[in-house]
Amino acid sequence: MLVYNSQTHRKEELKPIEEGKIRMYVCGPTVYDQIHIGNARTFLSFDVIRRYLTYKGYQVTFAQNLTDVDDKIINRANEEGRTAAEVAEEYSNAFIEQMHRFGVLDPDIRPRATREIEAMQEMISLLIERGFAYAADNGDVYFSVRSDHDYGVLSGRDLDQLRAGERVEVNDEKRDPFDFALWKAAKPGEPSWPSPWGEGRPGWHTECCAMIHRYLGTPIDIHGGGQDLVFPHHENETAQAMCAWGAPLANVWMHTGMLRVNGDKMSKSLGNFFTLKEVLDKYPADAVRLLMLQTHYRSALDFQTDQLDGAVGTLDRLSTCVKNLRWAAKNAPQDGELSEADRTLGAAIDKAHGDFVAQMDDDFNTSGGLAAIFSLVTAANKYLADAADNIATAPTLRAAYMIVELADVLGIDLSKAGAEEELPAGLVDLARQYAGFDGDDANAAAGALIQARQEARAAKDWSRADAIRDGIGALGLVLEDTAAGARLRMAD
Ligand code: AMP
Ligand code: ZN
Repeated sequence: MLVYNSQTHRKEELKPIEEGKIRMYVCGPTVYDQIHIGNARTFLSFDVIRRYLTYKGYQVTFAQNLTDVDDKIINRANEEGRTAAEVAEEYSNAFIEQMHRFGVLDPDIRPRATREIEAMQEMISLLIERGFAYAADNGDVYFSVRSDHDYGVLSGRDLDQLRAGERVEVNDEKRDPFDFALWKAAKPGEPSWPSPWGEGRPGWHTECCAMIHRYLGTPIDIHGGGQDLVFPHHENETAQAMCAWGAPLANVWMHTGMLRVNGDKMSKSLGNFFTLKEVLDKYPADAVRLLMLQTHYRSALDFQTDQLDGAVGTLDRLSTCVKNLRWAAKNAPQDGELSEADRTLGAAIDKAHGDFVAQMDDDFNTSGGLAAIFSLVTAANKYLADAADNIATAPTLRAAYMIVELADVLGIDLSKAGAEEELPAGLVDLARQYAGFDGDDANAAAGALIQARQEARAAKDWSRADAIRDGIGALGLVLEDTAAGARLRMAD
């Protein structure tokens, strides 16, 4: 399968370092507030990438950090008269909660920066020992970009070019304006830890690198984040790894395109953001996933909330199709010879599976993957309409399973669509009223009602037959007469 590597700017065949296994890391959030849906897009993209790699049979180990010490956290704590640890705890929990709501799977390993200080200090000591870093008089420790001849390998920037273009924080302690802090000397009132260089806290780039080395070993197969992290964050991460351990941090670097609003990157600093929580309070998570996955993960995504209503409809089309397939299969007559329509549906199932895999193998083309699923939905709906009188259980169920399976790779959960527990419980009461039914099982009640209505019709008791049909309709179901007998299906 092909994966686009942002370091080489091309799609490359994915070659795991250890056969059958993928070790991947995606930079986690800085926990000072609810995350916005731009952040969520990045986490969703990697959730799907991870799910697909697992689907392909790789044993994936996925790590993601929480940056729980940072200027933004400290600022918020000061504004609110709380400790930085309290702020970080609140928003770490909020992040995990919203990820669960969004259907993003938990990482296998979720290190927190404040609990990994020792690993970071080991890495910093190694960098100083090797001449790639220096402690300044004020207790800061800096990475010396000039000492690393490979600096710039990831982003393709060279230092002289950078000097002209980028704004950098200049301070007297740095030997070069592009040197970055590995360790920051404590300021009064800030969280800090003892170190060989005095009280202080780690720099942001230090964290991920040390945690990756500790938990996954370097290099890893895939390192990911949003495109805005390429420089300086990931550039600095890989510089540290190269200089500390003599190997790059990752084989493949993957970066997601930015989610934008009216052409601008969604960000807290621009104030043009929706939090994921706000959006999930209004829309089903799977509709938000569906909308985001219609755009390739590397492309920019212009987000418009009014598109979410459309996505709700699209999601409904998926689940209604699965429900109808399951219902039709449940009420299908015994399978006999396969008909022409059955064979056509069978071919559509195989084609959807093949197309989905081909699209996803091509750098996780989720919009192509969705198109494959929807082509099966179209074929299945046609089958249900054309073969209404002659539904065969096997291909009908297989179509439902395939749609559920492929949607699941995208983290869209259709497993409950049309499942038994979704049969309206009201069927039981209706069957008690009209069919002398005394059980509790909605499935059995459905059968009893169909039979009671047939008996009423046979006895020419039209009003009773109609009352049964209307009662079923009021529960959101349709009673359909086919040549093979009556059956229930969900109303469209
Ligand atoms: P942060 O907490 O700012 O480090 O962001 C967490 C993740 O969200 C990083 O991988 C960022 O690259 C990513 N990110 C930030 N803004 C956006 C955006 N507008 N669209 C997509 N990803 C974003
Ligand atoms: Zn990182």
